[in-house]
Amino acid sequence: ATQANFYRVRLDGSAAVSLPVRAESERPRELLCTRRARLKKLGQRVIAGDRVTVEEPDWTDGRGAIASVLPRRTELSRPPVANADVLLLMFALAAPPPDAWQLSRFLTCGETTGLELCLCLNKCDLVAAAEQQAWRERLRAWGYDPLFVSIRAGDGLEAVRARLAGKIGILAGPSGVGKSSAIARLVPSAQLRIGSVSGKLERGRHTTRHVELFELPGGGLLADTPGFNQPVLDCPPQRVVQLFPEARAFLRQGNCQFGNCLHRDEPHCVVRGEWERYEHYLRFLDEAVERAAARRDTP
Ligand code: GDP
Ligand code: ZN
Repeated sequence: ATQANFYRVRLDGSAAVSLPVRAESERPRELLCTRRARLKKLGQRVIAGDRVTVEEPDWTDGRGAIASVLPRRTELSRPPVANADVLLLMFALAAPPPDAWQLSRFLTCGETTGLELCLCLNKCDLVAAAEQQAWRERLRAWGYDPLFVSIRAGDGLEAVRARLAGKIGILAGPSGVGKSSAIARLVPSAQLRIGSVSGKLERGRHTTRHVELFELPGGGLLADTPGFNQPVLDCPPQRVVQLFPEARAFLRQGNCQFGNCLHRDEPHCVVRGEWERYEHYLRFLDEAVERAAARRDTP
């Protein structure tokens, strides 16, 4: 017996590696598909968010075969999601309180994706308005304008829905900040996600990096990213500065003396200075320099 890999494909042609198999209606809204042998030979993977064509769909059994994968507009490798638009980064204002360094790590990793970033601060119900305002100002100085929400109280969710409407969003953030609670709130049918899953699919799930895509009521899809809450920044040293919006603003206003300036202690540098995250920048830069050196050393 060969290892079978199944893909759930929505009828509008977008492949979701996991979505509810059936809605309340009798007709299948999704097909459980395999990949055509030709795709396998080409090594063509199918990942969550892919748009695909399906051959010979069997509407009675809800089965089909993926014949081709359309070109991807965007592609992330960790987690593997195609055609995403927005990265919804969730942190909590309390329980656990935001850690500035961890926040910076998620933000800079998010910047490398090229997706639109939406920073969302949850558990507003646990902090005083003054503290929320202090975070707003601090993050504005970082170049971000966060959404403040309380998933528990249902506050601020409309703004989140508006940012995700009609798009493919990816939800990320440390554990405990409220991501599962957010999915339960934003996706009324989240409880259906287990659906009726075949034994073969079940086996496949354990052998592949699994991403779930949830359908949003306002149109759009939201991907959960279990197991991807420890992002690692992978970026060449010269590009690290581009991951900081506040540093990009300095570079728009002027140039450093040296074209290859790493903004450490070079003379006539427009980036080095008294901005809050400059320390973070230097730490990420050191990591990037070390990684680049390690790459050179390994043949
Ligand atoms: P995840 O690990 O990011 O998926 O976080 P969960 O959704 O599991 O939430 C972690 C804990 O935070 C749970 O006990 C939730 O009930 C709680 N929680 C989620 N959202 C809120 C909120 O807006 N306010 C408060 N006070 N607690 C929340
Ligand atoms: Zn410089």
